[in-house]
Amino acid sequence: MRLVLLGAPGAGKGTQADAISKRYCVPHLSTGDILRAEVRSETKLGLAIRSTIDSGKLVPDDVIADVVAQRLLQGDAARGFILDGFPRSVPQARWLDGLLSDDRIDAVVELVVDEAVVLARVINRARLARENATDVRKDDDVETMRVRLEAYKVATLPLSAYYERQGLLHRIDGMMAVDRVTAEIFKAADATMRGRPVDAC
Ligand code: AMP
Repeated sequence: MRLVLLGAPGAGKGTQADAISKRYCVPHLSTGDILRAEVRSETKLGLAIRSTIDSGKLVPDDVIADVVAQRLLQGDAARGFILDGFPRSVPQARWLDGLLSDDRIDAVVELVVDEAVVLARVINRARLARENATDVRKDDDVETMRVRLEAYKVATLPLSAYYERQGLLHRIDGMMAVDRVTAEIFKAADATMRGRPVDAC
């Protein structure tokens, strides 16, 4: 299963990616998680991109392309993957199509959530992290969230039409209960298996 998850920040991509990853036994690849780990470890890459991530802007395409290419080369991605946070623009999607070549993406799921709802969710995520004394993402505040939502509208939203033209897009209401969203995603993803059995882990 090679699946791409689209949706605004706070749309629930991470939660759903974990569920899909378990069902199809393929890794959940979150570019945001990979980049944040680089920042935490203070690698050369992490130091170079820290301020961009904290500001809510997108890191340059050549940087993210290197990160994704390296990650997809790892053995666990050979049987498939759930991409969360990548691609985030039409040029990134074109680059990915070229990289995958004949191993095309099976499905693209877009989680559709109102802007006010994602804003409230992200603010709540930051509040919970503070209360539990866990890491609060620097980009989970109202001002940075506005920058991230703008980047989403300008760069990422056009991806829906790009994948719709390829017949891959499944739009799902991300404001339903989490389990219902998961069930809808499984239905869409199962249909792409065309009767092939779902591998056990
Ligand atoms: P996320 O966890 O997906 O919200 O990503 C957090 C931040 O990582 C984003 O605001 C960007 O700065 C950076 N990032 C993650 N994925 C990408 C991407 N595909 N292209 C550019 N920047 C990205």
